[in-house]
Amino acid sequence: MATGRVDLDGNPIKPMTICMIGAGGFIGSHLCEKLLTETPHKVLAVDVYNDKIKHLLEPSTAEWADRIQFHRLNIKNDSRLEGLIRMADLTINLAAICTPADYNTRPLDTIYSNFIDALPVVKYCSENNKRLIHFSTCEVYGKTIGCFLPKDSPLRQDPEYYVLKEDTSPCIFGPIDKQRWSYACAKQLIERLVYAEGAENGLEFTIVRPFNWIGPRMDFIPGIDGPSEGVPRVLACFSNNLLRGEPLKLVDGGESQRTFVYIKDAIEAVLLMIENPARANGHIFNVGNPDNEVTVRQLAEMMTKVYSKVSGEPSLDSPTIDVSSKEFYGEGYDDSDKRIPDMTIINRQLGWNPKTSLWDLLESTLTYQHRTYAEAVKKATSQAAAN
Ligand code: NAD
Ligand code: UDP
Repeated sequence: MATGRVDLDGNPIKPMTICMIGAGGFIGSHLCEKLLTETPHKVLAVDVYNDKIKHLLEPSTAEWADRIQFHRLNIKNDSRLEGLIRMADLTINLAAICTPADYNTRPLDTIYSNFIDALPVVKYCSENNKRLIHFSTCEVYGKTIGCFLPKDSPLRQDPEYYVLKEDTSPCIFGPIDKQRWSYACAKQLIERLVYAEGAENGLEFTIVRPFNWIGPRMDFIPGIDGPSEGVPRVLACFSNNLLRGEPLKLVDGGESQRTFVYIKDAIEAVLLMIENPARANGHIFNVGNPDNEVTVRQLAEMMTKVYSKVSGEPSLDSPTIDVSSKEFYGEGYDDSDKRIPDMTIINRQLGWNPKTSLWDLLESTLTYQHRTYAEAVKKATSQAAAN
């Protein structure tokens, strides 16, 4: 059946069935939303949780109700997985433990989740000749070459020493006792396995390396929709501090640099991969926004300004405080110094470019955070004070 949709080469796109593992997470929820509202494709949504896609599963009268099925299963130990992969034309694997606070404190769970648990997914796709889009991470690049140069070396300013390229940059991790790298290393090995399945057994694959995708529904706010002692990724940590009127904590001075991309821009790139297999198969893609680079300290300052604008509340006189990584994350933490994605391959294959500036994406995300959480945080704080 033709749908009126055409791919980048002008060919009609046929409706497909997609087995999306990890569909209940941050990226999965946005991808499900996009597929249901803008395409004719069907989604077999697999996850252990579905809170972030509840609005897509109910009510049963929604116009897309017959195009999404939720399967609550843990891919570690569920024999239904292969059947779902066989029913689908394409499998997208998003399932992972992917919050840095876990990498050095739960290294075994991190390695099992990112490598061992992903193995059957790769195997079932390969054995059943099914296409696979596997989510890896920009963290597989580890540290930049530039960070090992002397502090005053002019080469540190040369993009050759810091821009991260899929086909030429090395993967540079710290020593084994820096367990931060357990995640990056497990992701690297599963990338190599997927690549080898492609080379030796003809698996049709695409590997995605997200560079700090952020937006609504990312992670959780501790004590509201996640554990009070939990440590989410930086967007949710800083949102939590802003909602509670606390200073934002800068780990080791907040000197590390990141590029942030708006989730809605990034999802456009994933949809292009889904609908253009001839251009996406066999490739590894950086997906990020090289123009949105800041230090973590600058991110904190910008989020403080934006939150004050969207909430109408004045910011603190001292909006940030410094904490050591040992205090914040515990023993074995280490950090990526700088992450700028090279965009040559994704530009050439899919013509994709991000659009949203850091200020704009923070404004829409913090408006969402304020609307969703401000009341609940106020209630929780006044209850705690009363006790
Ligand atoms: P997320 O934690 O919000 O989503 C992951 C989902 O997978 C969760 O809903 C979780 O319940 C599910 N899951 C985990 N283990 C499972 C299992 N055994 N069985 C069934 N479901 C399971 O994370 P996200 O930000 O949406 O990330 C998705 C993928 O993208 C991950 O592979 C992550 O490593 C990668 N990634 C994301 C970013 C980013 O910027 N968000 C950056 C780098 C890499
Ligand atoms: N970070 C911080 N304060 C926080 C949370 C994170 O300074 O409350 C820093 C962290 O040390 C890292 C950066 O912010 O340098 C990004 O952290 P994130 O958890 O988003 O993951 P990463 O980009 O390292 O994968």
